[in-house]
Amino acid sequence: MGKNVAGRFAPSPSGYMHMGNLLAMLLAWLDCRALGGRMIFRMEDLDPVRTSPVYAAAIAEDLTWLGMDWDEGYPDPAWCQSGRTALYEAAFRTLEEKGLVYPCWCSRAQRLAAASAPHPGEAVHDPNCQCSRMTDEQRAARLAADRPPAWKVRVPDETVTVTDGHYGAYAQNLAHEGGDFIIRRADGVYAYQLAVSVDDMLMGVTRVVRGRDLLSSAPRQAWLIRALGGTPPEYCHLPLLTAEEGKLSKRLGSRSTQALRQEYDPRDLVGRLAYIAGLLPAPEPISPRQLLPLFDWSKIPAEDITI
Ligand code: GLU
Repeated sequence: MGKNVAGRFAPSPSGYMHMGNLLAMLLAWLDCRALGGRMIFRMEDLDPVRTSPVYAAAIAEDLTWLGMDWDEGYPDPAWCQSGRTALYEAAFRTLEEKGLVYPCWCSRAQRLAAASAPHPGEAVHDPNCQCSRMTDEQRAARLAADRPPAWKVRVPDETVTVTDGHYGAYAQNLAHEGGDFIIRRADGVYAYQLAVSVDDMLMGVTRVVRGRDLLSSAPRQAWLIRALGGTPPEYCHLPLLTAEEGKLSKRLGSRSTQALRQEYDPRDLVGRLAYIAGLLPAPEPISPRQLLPLFDWSKIPAEDITI
């Protein structure tokens, strides 16, 4: 099985990493390597406004510093979303040919946000949007006369269930709980949901390990991958790191790796992360590779972790 298993790091280089990102990457690496899989490092630098090559380089350096390796990916532009526009374009056309795509002129803020992964509480659908109900004539007239629209995919009134490796069955009615969603912004930038689905499919990713804030995106992505003719990966979400008031703790949680690296030796930081995740009974210096025999999803809590 090892040969076909592929995991991924998929950071957005919109800032320096913090403990939550590092934990997600550590668990993604452990999960993949424990299964003998190939590790992919995809840079999610889709949004030219919100991401920067400076952060991309810093993330790669942090991973290496911590002792995590990868087989394919960054800095090869073929593995960076900024270099994959033609593939997103092709997927967009496929969906369009299936009659699933329509233009939307609503809510500028949502259209701009669509290139990044949605965070908890962020609306993914504008309930007042009437754009899906236009006739072909109305659309054609507006396309000719109005500003460029965003493009949405029309989801079916269908319940999609993903079996999460950590949280179990997670079901979502696409039409009622998520609604039609943006796959291309008005400025032509493809949206996170489309890019991540196309990439996971074309890169042959079989294990998606990431924060629980993206669990609610998984049914949408699994559906999109099937609509594009692919097989969805297995999803394994992990708890988020929080402070008591629900925010990342100032003491440890919110500090960027830039600051953490001043203070910690890499093995100390990995040990701290492993302890936080329940893989070690106490923080002690350790490398990711030494953690492999101790890695087990059943040790990782389901509820969010206060640090
Ligand atoms: N790039 C996304 C983020 O950093 C993660 C996407 C994913 O893992 O699906 O939030």
